[in-house]
Amino acid sequence: MKVAVLSGGVGGARFLLGVREHFAGTGTEITAIVNVGDDMWLTGVRIAPDLDSIMYALAGVNDTERGWGRAGETERVSAELRAHGVGWPWFTLGDLDLGTHLTRTHYLREGLGLAEATRRITERWPLGVTLVPSTNDEIETHVLTAEGTMHFQEWWTRHRAAIPALGFEYRGSEAATPAPGVLEAIAAADLILVAPSNPVVSIAPILAIPGIRQAITDAPAPVIGLSPIIAGAVVRGMADACLTAIGVATAADAVALHYGARSRGGLLDAWLVDSADAAVVPVIEGAGIRAAAVPLWMTDPATTAEIVRAATAV
Ligand code: GDP
Ligand code: CA
Repeated sequence: MKVAVLSGGVGGARFLLGVREHFAGTGTEITAIVNVGDDMWLTGVRIAPDLDSIMYALAGVNDTERGWGRAGETERVSAELRAHGVGWPWFTLGDLDLGTHLTRTHYLREGLGLAEATRRITERWPLGVTLVPSTNDEIETHVLTAEGTMHFQEWWTRHRAAIPALGFEYRGSEAATPAPGVLEAIAAADLILVAPSNPVVSIAPILAIPGIRQAITDAPAPVIGLSPIIAGAVVRGMADACLTAIGVATAADAVALHYGARSRGGLLDAWLVDSADAAVVPVIEGAGIRAAAVPLWMTDPATTAEIVRAATAV
């Protein structure tokens, strides 16, 4: 069996831990198609936050307390960069994390694409999931605000999404092409899962790459998504600020309707909401999307595996 998962960073990583756990020992091939809209060049290195969040979590080397980056991290290099006045003072890069960025930059400078660089970097650990960037091209999510347009990282990390967003641009995506392996994974999948990742800045930048949405529309596999919104609130992070900017309510049914039914030109065949949102199941079904309500808190891989089991049964 083959499973393809559309994924952002930290939320996607938690979900993939459960996907891996659910299918453990079954010989299932799991491919994560990962957002690269948050990627950037900074202090001479290429940074790919979502790919790295997933890699560190699946490798078991992530900082579970802080919620991002490597466990046992130090920041000596960042302190030096700051003393030199290089980089973004509000964006700290850990020393271990910089090792990843240097390795990625090394491969890119050798002329390899991001997909091949990612394959080589992830070879270090038995992740149990193949990580494929959505594209080898450099696309960047920018945020439109009354104070000007800024890179997603500046809005998210520096301003903590406190400046109201007026819209999002996935710069470079119109001219981008899917990375090698993306369309193949979608076409070959027996199951396509949309992780409970941020719909606006994690899933949308993947779908903005020409060819990917069409491949999902045409795929023989069912497309099943999971709500990142529980009881009208984001579980972690600031996705509500993103949804508001695009005119979508922070509600499990509103996100489902935003993605839309595949049978009606949208993305989804089925959608899971949390038990707290059971009342909106008929609303979602009325829009042509099968729906079910189950606990959607991804507290640990075993609990998340149970969520994945429910997704395969909806
Ligand atoms: P990022 O790229 O690091 O921002 O991570 P993602 O986009 O992959 O995931 C962020 C989203 O995951 C947020 O919008 C959260 O609401 C959602 N999320 C985080 N933890 C949980 C959880 O336990 N359950 C559900 N249903 N959603 C979650
Ligand atoms: Ca991200």
